Amino acid sequence: MNLILLGPPGAGKGTQAHWICEKLGIPQVSTGDILRAARKDQTELGKQAETYMVAGKLVPDEVVIGIVQERLKETDCLEGYVLDGFPRTANQALALKETLAANNTQINAVISINVPDDLLVTRLCGRRVCSQCGASFHISFSPSKTEGVCDQCSGSLMQRKDDTEETIRERLNVYHEQTKPLINFYKGENVLQSIDGTGEISDVWSRINNILGK
Ligand code: AMP
Repeated sequence: MNLILLGPPGAGKGTQAHWICEKLGIPQVSTGDILRAARKDQTELGKQAETYMVAGKLVPDEVVIGIVQERLKETDCLEGYVLDGFPRTANQALALKETLAANNTQINAVISINVPDDLLVTRLCGRRVCSQCGASFHISFSPSKTEGVCDQCSGSLMQRKDDTEETIRERLNVYHEQTKPLINFYKGENVLQSIDGTGEISDVWSRINNILGK
């Protein structure tokens, strides 16, 4: 199954993608994670992406499309994958469609997670991520047992550089202008399923699980 998780920053795409991947035994392909890893390693890609990411802007289409095309060629993607954070523009969606069609394959489902902007800002401002394993926490909604320490691997928790209020507002503007129109694109492709992304993580997961089937 080839799946896309569509939604604004802070909708919970990463968390839900992780659970979907565990259930279906397929990999999570997150362009944000790939770009953050490249930044950490200070590769050419990482250096190129850094200015865009810190400002809350999108990394240019040709760069991100190339990353995804290469990643989807890897053997672990043969049985399917969950795309998390890609596509984010009409050009990316069209390039993906063409790439898949050239390999006689397609996207089977797009799950669009809806969350109001105000709640997204609250979620992102309080988000803390583990610098080692990437697990995500929230200072009020899902705090770690010990402040600043990851429950899963004891790594130190940090705030993402783009989780500041100004950058969050910019990322939301970018979402509304460039990514939200993809909801209509995938409606037209008859693969769109929309869900309410508010409430507990486990509630959102049950809604997704219902779509995936038992
Ligand atoms: P995310 O972790 O998905 O919120 O992505 C973090 C940042 O990485 C975004 O704000 C963008 O700067 C960049 N990024 C991730 N995915 C894409 C994409 N599909 N297109 C362009 N930029 C992206």
